Order: sequence, then C-alpha cells, then structure tokens
Amino acid sequence: MIETNIDLQPHNTLAVSARSAHFARVQTLEQLREALAFARERQLPILPLGGGSNIVLTGDFPGLAIQVDLRGFSLIAGDSGYSVEAAAGENWHQLVMATVQKGLGGLENLALIPGKIGAAPIQNIGAYGIELCDRFVSLQAMEVVSGTLHEFSAQDCAFSYRDSVFKGSLRDKYIITQVNLYLPGVWQAHVDYPALRQYLAEQNWNANALTPAQVAQAVIEIRNSKLPLPDRIPNAGSFFKNPIVDNTSYQTLKAEHPDLVAFAAGDRWKLAAGWLIDRAGWRGIRRNAVGVHELQALVLINPGRGAGSEVTQLAEEIVEDVHAKFGVSLEPEPRYYP
Ligand code: FAD
Ligand code: NAP
Repeated sequence: MIETNIDLQPHNTLAVSARSAHFARVQTLEQLREALAFARERQLPILPLGGGSNIVLTGDFPGLAIQVDLRGFSLIAGDSGYSVEAAAGENWHQLVMATVQKGLGGLENLALIPGKIGAAPIQNIGAYGIELCDRFVSLQAMEVVSGTLHEFSAQDCAFSYRDSVFKGSLRDKYIITQVNLYLPGVWQAHVDYPALRQYLAEQNWNANALTPAQVAQAVIEIRNSKLPLPDRIPNAGSFFKNPIVDNTSYQTLKAEHPDLVAFAAGDRWKLAAGWLIDRAGWRGIRRNAVGVHELQALVLINPGRGAGSEVTQLAEEIVEDVHAKFGVSLEPEPRYYP
C-alpha cells in the first residue's frame, strides 16, 4: 500500500513538482489506521492530502503523504430538513451539485470550490457570504497518534473566517474521515454579493423566485468568468486571506484611498486583499514561471510549473510591498509543506 519517492505534481493544483518520501492512497478506515501506524513506527511527518488545492509544496516532503480517498455519501430526510453525511474523499462540488439537483438548498453558494469534503472544515471554506460552518453539524476524525476515531462538534472545531482548530492547535493531529451537514427545509437564497446580484439582474432572474440550482448555476458562471481553472493555469485559489483591521486603521486608509473595497465585520473591517494587491501594481505581473492572475490579483498562478519556493518568494514580495504601501499585513491562505 505504501509507495516510495512519489512526485506530488499531480496531487496539487499549483502543479509544483516535489517528491514525497512515502505515499499512500487510503480507501478504508483500516488502511488509514495502517498508514498512520507506518508513519508512527518510523517517526515520519504526515501530509494529509485531499485535492491539493490549498497547499504549497515548498520542497520535497520527507514523510508520508496520505491521500484520503474514503468514499460514499447519504442524504437523509428529517422532520425539518436534510442531513448530509459524506466521507472525506468525496468531491466537494459534486456533493453540492447532488444536493441542488434534488432541489435541496443550503450549499449552492459554495459550488465549484475545488477539493474534497475532508478538507472543507480545515479552513471552514466559504464563498459568496456562506461558510461551511453555516451548514455544519459534526465530523469524525482519526487521531494520528492513536488511530482512534473521535467526533467533533461545531464548537470543538472553533470555526472562524477561513480558519478552524485544525489549522491551529490540532494541525495535522487528526485525519478527517467524515463530515455531517444539515440543510434546512425552509430555504432562502443568499444573493447579496454584488457579483451575484449583478448576474441575476443581467439574466432578468427574479431574486424572490430562485431555485438552489439557479443560484449554483450563477455562482459557477461567475467563477468561471474570472477564476483560472487549475487544469489550465495552475493555482491555489485566493493566495491571501482578506485582512481584518480595526476601525481606526480602516478610517485612515479610507481617507487616503476613497475607493478602498472593505466590508464591515462586526466592529472591525474586512479589507479586500485583491484590491490592495491590485492597487499596489501586482495584477498580471509575471516572474519566470509564476505570476499574479490578470483578472483576480488575489490568485497567484504557476503557468510555468515552477518550484513552490518561486510561488512563496513572490508571495513574500507582495506581502512586503502591500505592507509598505498600506501598512496592512497579508497572511497566506494555503498551507505550506514541508
Ligand atoms: P488540500 O489542498 O488537499 O488540503 C488542504 C489542507 O487540509 C492541507 O493542510 C491538508 O493537509 C489538509 N487536509 C486535507 N484533507 C484532510 C483530511 N481528510 N483530514 C485532515 N486534514 C486534511 N476555498 C474557499 O474557502 N472558498 C473558495 O471559494 C475557494 N475557491 C477556490 C478556487 C480555486 C480555483 C482553488 C484552486 C482553490 C479554492 N479554494 C477555495 C481553496 C480550496 O479549494 C479549499 O480550501 C478546499 O477545501 C481544499 O480542499 P482540498 O481537498 O484540495 O485540500
Ligand atoms: P469578489 O466577489 O470580487 O469580492 C471581493 C472580496 O470582497 C471578496 O473577497 C469578498 O470577501 C468581499 N465581499 C464582496 N461582497 C461582499 C459582501 N457583500 N459582504 C462581505 N464581503 C464581501 O470576490 P471573488 O474573488 O470573485 O470571490 C468570490 C467569492 O468566492 C468570495 O466569497 C471568495 O472568498 C470566494 N473565493 C475564495 C477563494 C479561495 O481560495 N479562498 C478563491 C476564489 C473565490 P470574502 O472572500 O470574505 O467572501
């Protein structure tokens, strides 16, 4: 089951070539348990892998990469909605489409997010005003050190903006094996994002008579119009989180840059990182194999299939420049390995 010296290029959407000392594709809980025991006995670090759409391989990985390929999902009707139980290796977008095709609403704003179900809680995936935590019930995960299964509630996961306990204190300590969601029986479309509103207006769709499938279709078409498909132009989606700043910093920036794009986030402000990078002059630039996407400055691309270090070096330059120009610190969203 365990292969050695495997190139992870087909397993990450930035198409970075980096070798993993060991690699295992696991399709059952028992195989996962065995893979973890293999790593434990040899004191190897592990790299849990879904679709590889939110990682940067900065060099060869000296441990065991585990591709979590557990399959199966069910939709169970309840008194007031539907329970969704999905194994970690299922494709996220396919699950979204399976729900909307049954007329079930709740996940449609999250259509076309690449990757697997098991990775969705890691950064509490979100798009167009909906986050995984809005539909989340619980998850099952295998503890790396013991191979035992544990259940996590939403509270245990400590979800926040593009973050969870699995990016913090429990980083790489658990392998998520199953995610359980709940779709409310009474559905209401969430189409407040300007891009969605504009799309609906252009299509002459009545915002009060939408179906979940129509919202999913709108999201898919908007995303396809501006986001590079990783198959064609390797990328890891938004490379930076939108920074959250206090009111004083926001007011200072707004006075200097009246067209600043920002949104209220409680008593703080979320700045559009893409606007900051664009305004700092990075949109569309190329640096050898890597660059910044022409239509969305938040997306770093790797059309020349360069090394992960080229991507992270470009990211560092952008962070420094945005800080020098706006006094705002950008934080990368994908996780770096090793
Ligand atoms: P991977 O990249 O394989 O893994 C991501 C992290 O999770 C790694 O640290 C990995 O070790 C860990 N991990 C993976 N599986 C498991 C598991 N079973 N158990 C424990 N840890 C695990 N994100 C959004 O939030 N919103 C978006 O709208 C969005 N759009 C994107 C668009 C594009 C074009 C791209 C390329 C990316 C986008 N992303 C978006 C980022 C990414 O798709 C999500 O974060 C997604 O959930 C990652 O899934 P994955 O299976 O590819 O994870
Ligand atoms: P967009 O619609 O051009 O909007 C730019 C930014 O403004 C987004 O980052 C979004 O924040 C914020 N925003 C827009 N309208 C908002 C509102 N009404 N309330 C609060 N915040 C608002 O963004 P985009 O790049 O095309 O992406 C569209 C959606 O897909 C966004 O939600 C984005 O997060 C998601 N996406 C994520 C990734 C990723 O890799 N993480 C990649 C592609 C797209 P938020 O990002 O907080 O939503």
